Amino acid sequence: MGTESAVRIVLLFPDLLGTYGDRGNATVLVERLRARGHRAELTEVVAGMKVPAGCDIYLLGGGEDIAQAEASRLLAGSAFPAAVDGGAVVLAVCAGLQILGTAAVDEEGRAVSGLGVLDLTTTPAPRRAIGEIVTQALPEVGLADPVLTGFENHQGRTRLGTGISPLARVKRGTGNGDGGEGVVHGNIVGTYLHGPVLARNPALADRLLTMATGWNLSPLSLPDVAELRRGTIAAARNRSGFRRRVASALTPRRWLSPGMDRPDVAPDDDHDVISLPPRGR
Ligand code: GLN
Repeated sequence: MGTESAVRIVLLFPDLLGTYGDRGNATVLVERLRARGHRAELTEVVAGMKVPAGCDIYLLGGGEDIAQAEASRLLAGSAFPAAVDGGAVVLAVCAGLQILGTAAVDEEGRAVSGLGVLDLTTTPAPRRAIGEIVTQALPEVGLADPVLTGFENHQGRTRLGTGISPLARVKRGTGNGDGGEGVVHGNIVGTYLHGPVLARNPALADRLLTMATGWNLSPLSLPDVAELRRGTIAAARNRSGFRRRVASALTPRRWLSPGMDRPDVAPDDDHDVISLPPRGR
C-alpha cells in the first residue's frame, strides 16, 4: 500500500510579508495535519529563492507598502501565478490579499501593480483601520463555526469586482471598508485578519486543508484554542456593549424628547450583537 504523500505548504516571503506574525498560519496548518497523523512539508521562500511550483497551499502574509511592492514584483515573475491557475489553495492576508488584485494605491499615493489573480482593487482610506475585528463568514464558505476574529492594521480599502464574493460580513471593525471582509474565489481565500487568523479560527484552517486535500478531517479537541476564541469574541462583544453604555450615560435626559429612548451607540459599525460559540469549540 503506497504511503500518503505529504501536504506541501509554501510560506511566501516571510522576510517581506511577516510584519504581523502571519507566518503562524503555516505552523497551524502543519500542526493540524500532524495532530491527525498526516504528513506535512513546509517550505519557506525568502527573497532571492525560487518559488516551488505545484505545491498544495501557498501562504501570503501582511507587510508595509514598500515590502508589499517588492513581494508583488518577485511573485509576478515566479511559479506562483501558474500554481494558482493549477488550482493550488491560497491564503492571502492583508498585503497578500492586496497583491492578488489588479492594482493597489498605497498611502503615499504610489500605484502598486498587483498580480491580477483576482478582480479587486485597493485604495488608501483617510485613516488606518487598527484594532480587533470580528466577522461572520458567508454560509457558502462552509465553516462549521462561521465567527471569525482577528486584528486588523491597514490603510487600504478593497473593492471586489463582479463575480467574486467577500469571505465574511463585518460585525465589528472595518475589513474591506464596505461592510464585507476579505474575498473567496475558487481555491483562494483572502482576508484582512491577522492574529494569526488560522490560530484564532481553527474552522478556517481545516477548511483550507480540506480544499487542498479533499479529506474530511476529524474534529480536533484543543481546549486552549477554544478558550482563546471565547475570550476574544467575548471581549469584542463586551467592548461593543461598553461603548453603548458610555454613550447612553453621556446623553443627558434633558436632551431627549418625550418618549425617545436613550440613544444607543452602535459599536464601530452598526452591526448586531456578536454571538458566542458554544463552549468546547
Ligand atoms: N500596507 C498595506 C496597508 O496598509 C497592508 C498592511 C498589512 O499587511 N497589514 O493597507
